[in-house]
Amino acid sequence: MSDAMVAASASEATSGGTTQQVDVAVVGAGFAGLYLLHRLRRAGFTTVTLEEADDVGGTWYWNRYPGARCDIQTIDYTYTFDPELESGWKWSEKYATQPEILRYLGFVADRYDLRRDIRFRTKVTAATWSQAVERWMLKTDNGPAVSCRYYIMATGCLSAPKPPEIDGVKDFKGEIYFTGRWPHEEVKLAGKRIAVIGTGSSGIQSIPLIAEQAAHLTVFQRTPNFALPAHNGPAPVDRVTLLENDRVSYREQARMSLAGVPWPQQMAVSWQLSDAERRERFEKAWAAGDLVYILTQLWADQAVDVDGNALLAELFREKIRATVKDPETAEALIPYDHPFGAKRPCLDTNYYATYNRPNVTLVNLRQEPIKSITASGINTETRAFDADVIVFATGFDAMTGAIMAVHPITGRGGKSLSDVWANGPQTYLGLTVAGFPNLFMITGPGSPSVLSNMAVSIEQHVDWVVDRLIAMREAGFTTIEATEMAQAGWARHMADCSMLTLHRLANTWYTGANVPGKAQGVMPYTGGVGPYRSICNEVVGRGMLGFKLTGPNVAEQCNDGEIVRLQPDVRLVLNMLADLKLPPLESFGSQGLRDFVAQFNASRPAGRPVGEVLDGTLPGPDGPLPYRLYRPATPGPHPIVVYFHGGGWVLGDEQADEPFCRDMSRRTGMIFVSVGYRHAPEHRFPAAAEDAYAATRWIADHAGELGGQPGPVLVAGWSAGGNVAAVACQLAQDRGGPQIAGQLLVCPVTDCRFDRSSYNDNAAGYFLTRSLMYWFWDLYCSPADRTDPRVSPLRGKLTGLPPAFVVTCEFDPLRDEGIAYAEALAAAGVPVEQLQARGHFHSSFTMVDVVITGVSGRVQMAQALRRFAGLPPERKQGDEGVRPDRTAAPREISVAAG
Ligand SMILES: Cc1cc2nc3c(=O)[nH]c(=O)nc-3n(C[C@H](O)[C@H](O)[C@H](O)COP(=O)(O)OP(=O)(O)OC[C@H]3O[C@@H](n4cnc5c(N)ncnc54)[C@H](O)[C@@H]3O)c2cc1C
Repeated sequence: MSDAMVAASASEATSGGTTQQVDVAVVGAGFAGLYLLHRLRRAGFTTVTLEEADDVGGTWYWNRYPGARCDIQTIDYTYTFDPELESGWKWSEKYATQPEILRYLGFVADRYDLRRDIRFRTKVTAATWSQAVERWMLKTDNGPAVSCRYYIMATGCLSAPKPPEIDGVKDFKGEIYFTGRWPHEEVKLAGKRIAVIGTGSSGIQSIPLIAEQAAHLTVFQRTPNFALPAHNGPAPVDRVTLLENDRVSYREQARMSLAGVPWPQQMAVSWQLSDAERRERFEKAWAAGDLVYILTQLWADQAVDVDGNALLAELFREKIRATVKDPETAEALIPYDHPFGAKRPCLDTNYYATYNRPNVTLVNLRQEPIKSITASGINTETRAFDADVIVFATGFDAMTGAIMAVHPITGRGGKSLSDVWANGPQTYLGLTVAGFPNLFMITGPGSPSVLSNMAVSIEQHVDWVVDRLIAMREAGFTTIEATEMAQAGWARHMADCSMLTLHRLANTWYTGANVPGKAQGVMPYTGGVGPYRSICNEVVGRGMLGFKLTGPNVAEQCNDGEIVRLQPDVRLVLNMLADLKLPPLESFGSQGLRDFVAQFNASRPAGRPVGEVLDGTLPGPDGPLPYRLYRPATPGPHPIVVYFHGGGWVLGDEQADEPFCRDMSRRTGMIFVSVGYRHAPEHRFPAAAEDAYAATRWIADHAGELGGQPGPVLVAGWSAGGNVAAVACQLAQDRGGPQIAGQLLVCPVTDCRFDRSSYNDNAAGYFLTRSLMYWFWDLYCSPADRTDPRVSPLRGKLTGLPPAFVVTCEFDPLRDEGIAYAEALAAAGVPVEQLQARGHFHSSFTMVDVVITGVSGRVQMAQALRRFAGLPPERKQGDEGVRPDRTAAPREISVAAG
């Protein structure tokens, strides 16, 4: 259909008034809407921006309460798309005030002459997609409706204030203010009795300033919050120097960072640091007054592990106790109900000290909830507080509020967005929604948005969207729509990411918990700004993966699929490995590869502390074999697990899987004895198998001397170690002992056939490659021997073997032979459980310090070993806050009859 026909039919559809026809309608004139308008115009699209307020600014237009400031340093919280704009504006403070940020946005609007295409005082009230004309029709509360090809909601994550949930607000005879809708004219607070409800960011920023003016200030607090002193003033010299020395790379690092501010990834984990070192790091962060710094720079496990986080939270609590003189008030102000950072922490100036003032009272609503608001003030369940002014600092219906306030948004086939999102927002990339063609959201739910420096996220979104519109125009496409498959995949990836952080452990506006009746779930993307950006780029690089594109004169294009199938941390690891551009590992030769792996492992932490680590030797079939024993800190005697490391029968030693052994020893409460069996090519088949058997027998016979429980042992192994563990079980059965209570086989080699699908699907790109496996096999075992069950246990006698827990990883060449072994064991009547780990690769579970999403799998492995040993499942670790991934629950294979 030609544009003229489109225009005609679109204007016919409206009743009264002329419909404004544009290529693109943008809703919102904050940071996002302004940049959109600028880019769209320059790209030659006809555009209108619709804005409810009477000027530009968005957040910074509406939030004029006393003390309103940004909480990301202003040198970072700023547009970066135009170097001339950057040099044309100088921020006066480390954290700019609301008036200064508003002036800046006005300056930007003037500089690019944006206001002429903005319809102010115009609220979009409903939006409908017409499939016939392939356009959106937007209804407004002021002036003509708008017909547009593309509808972009730049409506803001924090722009829909949450209405008060308290009875009697209308009865109050005094003044009422909302921090998110603060009047433009001066509000006189001096000498008045003021009540502030809410201690989120707006409350924490405004309370100290209100207290200075008020006759009396009463603060009503439901949820205490962590607040860090801002130490505002000029922008810190070190940061400014860093920026000015190399602006381009500073900005680029911000774009690829986790939170949109260029700080490096912390490597040291909390348990590698002494108390004094941790305290020193914390004090430095306290003095720095920078939220992103304290959220990311103390230790690597602070945001992903409950124990690592608790250490930081406790140091924080000490500061609150030291500042607030009245111990009862201090206790009420201390958060205990959420990990630090799981709820947005705040930046403050004199917040805690304000409670030392004689004219300030804190009311703890956890102890005495508000019953009602009356004509004269606020009644809690136990007391009445008179007030002249009530300030609601109760926050926002975050992320979805402003989007859902445009109601209805009707997509293809009459679908309403509120129905589609009834159980929580569903998006692809946080940018688009299946069933809603040509609709884009800037920083929508499912994007890093509020977990990032939003200036960086907004620029990335705007650039991505506008670049797509340009590319579509060039290719002749007129519609774009996410597919259901892509959207479902994104939901899975979001859920995987949220397992990585502690956000899911707090009830916050990130999860929708602050709004009664709102669907619950972590709404922002927790995988980080840099990874998110690379995913968006990958979508484009892979032919607009997950989008259907159509146009009048071009063939429809739909490259369907899921953009991220790997676990998020596995993706990072594989990307890092890919960046190393290593030659094929087999090209190092056996000794070269051993040296390389040893060097690689030396840079990794050994793992968490256990009770004791002992080295020894045991007699093998052809001389002594080294072992390393990990004893838990709990009182013994403990059951013993005989462990065999991975390395393709060629690499590794008894220390090679140290982090895994320590972790599993702690989780199981068992002794792990890791055996240094002989390697190929010096010692070929069946040396490793015979060593494994001999070691198992010796350890079982000497359990008491090793401090273990006499009786059956357990065996475990990863990769080739899983192979020799499985073989040891078969040999023990054939040769009359020792008794083995259970076997844990993690990504085991079980067979010499290479034609199973996983050998092709995962042949390259997942570190363990098919060609590396071929090489391992060649070094260990001649083709004539390969069907021997001592190297292909799948071909052995399976009946009567000990119960097994078999772990396989989706992106592992060995996946299918692991599954085949589990199925064969089950068919032979052996009790078997399988964990088919989605999104994981061969090394996921042994890279304890890096692949955090492996925790839930290791929890299940530990539980299985405890079951085999006849112990109850308990042994809680701090990271059990990491809930087991339900999609990775073990499958029990039924035992064959008989
Ligand atoms: C007090 C406060 C401090 C903050 N500090 C920081 C910070 O330091 N760092 C940071 O990264 N982020 C901060 N944020 C988040 C902040 O919202 C973003 O940084 C950024 O300003 C968002 O810009 P935006 O254009 O996406 O949305 P907004 O600035 O919220 O603009 C959205 C605009 O859309 C308009 N609108 C919405 N619905 C409609 C409709 N139906 N019709 C017409 N117009 C509509 C609104 O009126 C609004 O003007 C803060 C937020 C608040 C509330």
